[in-house]
Amino acid sequence: MMRTGGDEIPCSCAPCSEPAVIRLRDPGQHLCSSHCIRYIGDIFFQTIDRQRMIAPGDRIAVAFSGGKDSTALLLLLHAALPVWPDVTLVAITVDEGIAGYRDETIRAAVDLTARLGVEHHIVSFASLFGGDLDTLLKGREPRACTVCGILRRRALATAARLAGATRIAVGHNLDDEAQSVLMNLLRGDFPHLVQDAASGEPECFIPRIKPLAGLSEREIVTYLVLTGNYRELPECPYTGYALRSEVRAMLAGLEFRHPGTMKNLIRSRDTIRKHTNQVPGKGGVQRCRECGEVSSGEICQVCRILARPG
Ligand code: SF4
Repeated sequence: MMRTGGDEIPCSCAPCSEPAVIRLRDPGQHLCSSHCIRYIGDIFFQTIDRQRMIAPGDRIAVAFSGGKDSTALLLLLHAALPVWPDVTLVAITVDEGIAGYRDETIRAAVDLTARLGVEHHIVSFASLFGGDLDTLLKGREPRACTVCGILRRRALATAARLAGATRIAVGHNLDDEAQSVLMNLLRGDFPHLVQDAASGEPECFIPRIKPLAGLSEREIVTYLVLTGNYRELPECPYTGYALRSEVRAMLAGLEFRHPGTMKNLIRSRDTIRKHTNQVPGKGGVQRCRECGEVSSGEICQVCRILARPG
């Protein structure tokens, strides 16, 4: 409940007089519990509709780590199924093999899918790549998130294909999107800045959708708390190596002092995308010489990681 002085702040949605539980910094409103849940549902549907993310008959593979974003994603998609009667969900959890971290999030994932009755597959790095992340990273821990991200994308795509999915839904929120824009700029990675994975091009890729991209991390946590689904979980031990951690802290400070900063960054990326016809470095699609998967070079990134420790 929000207060100024000793007084409760009421919800901004007239004629509602319920006490507010959250202040949205952008667009600057106070919302009570039920209006906050409704607002989050509205943004979720608007994001899906605006980008036509879901079509009749889709089988959606939900990248479900068991963490807060993917939990909110699965809950919102599951609650929306009556609106899309011929759409089905399958949750996919990738077990990277990170000691002291993954076991607990997998338990959370198993609990929620069982409660919702959603089909659930768990796929591990050990079974796909011959070793868990902790082992594969020996001696190159500072590259943890790069290695993890590349292998996780492959694991997810493989499991989604086996499950017959037509879309892969990932739990990237507005903060993640803004962080990615800034990280790509800081790295000088123009191809990733303008690439749009939602297009599913080339045809052999399953399109990735991001239904939470219009919601901030704070809104998602609030949604989980208000719906009784918030669960305290451990943090990945490799987080400290990630450039993302520094960018996250910097952007959070900017957003606090200058509300709308994150949305503006994303808007800038979308404008650049609109005016960019060709993605640099995006050559023709070929098959990796080692594993036969789609690759931008002779050898795909996964095979390069697995062949070259260090
Ligand atoms: Fe993987 Fe890095 Fe995320 Fe840990 S913080 S799960 S290593 S991407």
